[in-house]
Amino acid sequence: MADLKRLSESRDLTRIERIGAHSHIRGLGLDSSLEARDASEGMVGQLPARRAAGLILQLIRQGKIAGRAVLLAGQPGTGKTALAMGIAKSLGAETPFASVAASELFSLDLSKTEALTQAFRRSIGVRIKEEAEIIEGEVVEISIDRPLSAGSAAPSGATAPGKTGRLTLKTTDMETVYELGGKMIEALGKEKVQSGDVIALDKASGKVTKLGRSIGRSRDYDAVGPHTKFVKCPDGELQKRKEVVHCVTLHEIDVINSRTQGFLALFTGDTGEIRAEVREQIDTKVAEWREEGKAEIVPGVLFIDEVHMLDIECFSFLNRALENDMSPILVIATNRGITSIRGTNYRSPHGIPPDFLDRLLIITTQPYTEDEICKILDIRCNEEDVEMSADAKVLLTKIGVETSLRYAIHLITSAALACQKRKGKVVEMEDISRVYQLFLDVKRSTQYLMEYQSQYMFNEVPGEADGDD
Ligand code: ATP
Repeated sequence: MADLKRLSESRDLTRIERIGAHSHIRGLGLDSSLEARDASEGMVGQLPARRAAGLILQLIRQGKIAGRAVLLAGQPGTGKTALAMGIAKSLGAETPFASVAASELFSLDLSKTEALTQAFRRSIGVRIKEEAEIIEGEVVEISIDRPLSAGSAAPSGATAPGKTGRLTLKTTDMETVYELGGKMIEALGKEKVQSGDVIALDKASGKVTKLGRSIGRSRDYDAVGPHTKFVKCPDGELQKRKEVVHCVTLHEIDVINSRTQGFLALFTGDTGEIRAEVREQIDTKVAEWREEGKAEIVPGVLFIDEVHMLDIECFSFLNRALENDMSPILVIATNRGITSIRGTNYRSPHGIPPDFLDRLLIITTQPYTEDEICKILDIRCNEEDVEMSADAKVLLTKIGVETSLRYAIHLITSAALACQKRKGKVVEMEDISRVYQLFLDVKRSTQYLMEYQSQYMFNEVPGEADGDD
């Protein structure tokens, strides 16, 4: 536990964000009815895809997406990664988000199934709660171990009631149990109380208020469930329980408990293979904590980009992993059309086997209009703190339309450097033209190669190879 505490504290430091390709994305930019706003939270256009992502978000929040995965399919640079980022950001800082490119799974250090297992466990959070600490005043908390209804058995466990602080009822203290319990049942009326709800009872007025959830339990009780907590405060004041919560991922717990790796491996990333026994022990421990109400599982999002690079064995692993009840939400992306499934001679849409395709909710992304490209470039200029003249923005947008959005985004930083070099403050058209000439886009690079191919080594210009023979 001490290590977990240290970890969750130090994570705040490691989470400082740099300006990256997607650092301007702060959410999906949806309104309260999940409609996509034209430009919001750093997101521009791509409305149908964002609306669909909003529905996915709702499914995730309602816990209805287990065993399924989402495929983002579309041309390069149409915002697939940005959308995945948007989903993650909308889920809140506590929801773990792990992102890998499929090619990263094929390393020499780890087997691909180990790399996938680590990626899965990096995207499953465990919210660990410390014992409630009652702040001040005469606060009484009663934990009931069984459903409390007429004729139910008394709660077990016994400590003496304290003047201040927590009161755990004695088995002999039945009168108080029934008095408080009876008042609660009466006050709650027909309202459903879930097991694990934290409830405040003002003993004087008999008023009962739901304060929130204590632990995740699925069964509903008509009256009061096991582990339901009663909190009574003097003067009708409801005093919130002070709870210390640590959020870590399953992978982090694995690494901390892996004798060969240890705590510091988390910061170097060099965690190596983790033994199956270690994971089994962790799973058992976490299951115990969940039973005792000390921990809660937070399924996060695992994003796998370039999913066509996975092979048939990886897909089979994913099929199975999605069946696990602790599975995160899997979001995959590809820019490929019909291509071969890696590791086989078969071709299929996006290089994904049909049985796995069948599990997917597919969202497609579309190319951007000129106006949308202009808005995205504007957001990126702000993000990178680059001041650009209106003319230069028009030119850059034109370049974005002719070449690609990504190429135009790249020119922002280099044009700012060109501007700095001539001691300018605002990026002008001349800076954009300069870097446009210095750095080729794909189209011009291909054209150049066509013209000068013969001067490169091992060129394959038809006819010339024959002449060499
Ligand atoms: P690829 O298929 O090549 O991986 P992709 O579809 O994942 O491409 P992104 O990397 O998401 O494309 O987009 C390219 C750049 O444009 C990124 O910096 C991204 O943040 C930005 N971008 C894309 N779409 C949007 C959008 N709708 N709103 C704001 N920024 C966007």
